[in-house]
Amino acid sequence: MNHVYFKQPYQKSADTMVESAVREKGQLLICLEENLYHAKGGGQPDDRGEIELCGKRVPVEGLVKRKGSTYVVVRDDPAFDDVGFGEPVRCLVDWPRRYLLMRNHTAAHIAMGALARLVDGYEPCGIEIAEDGSTCAMRFTGSAGAALPDLQAVEALVAQVVAQDLPVNAESFKSVDAARATLPTIFRSDPRLKFNGNVRVVTIHEFDANPCGGSHLARTSEVGKLRLQFAGWAGSDGVMSLCLSLENLNEMPDPS
Ligand SMILES: [Zn+2]
Repeated sequence: MNHVYFKQPYQKSADTMVESAVREKGQLLICLEENLYHAKGGGQPDDRGEIELCGKRVPVEGLVKRKGSTYVVVRDDPAFDDVGFGEPVRCLVDWPRRYLLMRNHTAAHIAMGALARLVDGYEPCGIEIAEDGSTCAMRFTGSAGAALPDLQAVEALVAQVVAQDLPVNAESFKSVDAARATLPTIFRSDPRLKFNGNVRVVTIHEFDANPCGGSHLARTSEVGKLRLQFAGWAGSDGVMSLCLSLENLNEMPDPS
């Protein structure tokens, strides 16, 4: 299985074939040779879309990960009885939604990088992008009741990075330590996450670098305008929550 969205996040469709198929409780789970769909992880929700199989076009009902493979879940159908290895499949991703998720995810990288630069005492510890892609909850370790970061200053630095139209790239490193050694001034990583072996690092040119398996924009200018708001302290462990909201939700360079 090859994850298409890792290298070509702007690809909206793919012609591929079934590697294996499993039937469970009225559903058909299909592992594809070329997987177009991002499965929930790293704070980014499942992709949605459709597949064309055996002359039928059906919605993707979900994605499941098993033993390192991603399976596309569709409702089973008598037309799919003989589906197995080699069956041709056409995949289509819900592109407006995917693009919004990419904008939001890239915005979160910029905002966390900006906060890490401007504010001492807060470590990013995860994001959760809303299913509709409009907002993102960002969490930071800190201490409950401490002075809040100057969000206007963070927003201003984010706007500057967006205006600079910096390239965003994903690079593979042998380890987190190798990535940190190569990008010492911009690398950041949630200290609670453990990585073994190869790690995919998303870099925003000379601004930020962070291990991530999601899908991102090619350039920062595509993020557009956003707002940051304090959303509260979570529990008693001093985790600060910020809400990132994208503006101009229908803004797309290529709506096709
Ligand atoms: Zn990411």
